[in-house]
Amino acid sequence: MKLSPEIVRNLYSSLYCCYPFSKWDLPLPEEIDFQITYDPDVMGTYLYDTGDDFEHTITISSARCGHLMTVITTLSHEMVHMSFYRRKGDKWAQHGKEFRKRCHMVGLELGFDPLEL
Ligand SMILES: [Zn+2]
Repeated sequence: MKLSPEIVRNLYSSLYCCYPFSKWDLPLPEEIDFQITYDPDVMGTYLYDTGDDFEHTITISSARCGHLMTVITTLSHEMVHMSFYRRKGDKWAQHGKEFRKRCHMVGLELGFDPLEL
């Protein structure tokens, strides 16, 4: 599929309204810079406070996400990262036990394989 920031922003808006994302007090879609990259090494990224205009940046790589479902699960993964942005230090960048627990919650609720998140 041909990806655009608008598509990802709208997918974000939908996921934002779904439990458990709806309980995590995530930023509004307009507070996030959505970017499409062509990075063969990563599926997506979440970056907090890079010093740019937006406090939050989510990238999705069109080199790795060719289908809608892959975009949705990648975006979900980055949204779990984002759900830790208020925590001290670089908690939002980690894939620790709490991160995995939240991925499991998302997978269970929305029908994704939590191991793919
Ligand atoms: Zn990650």
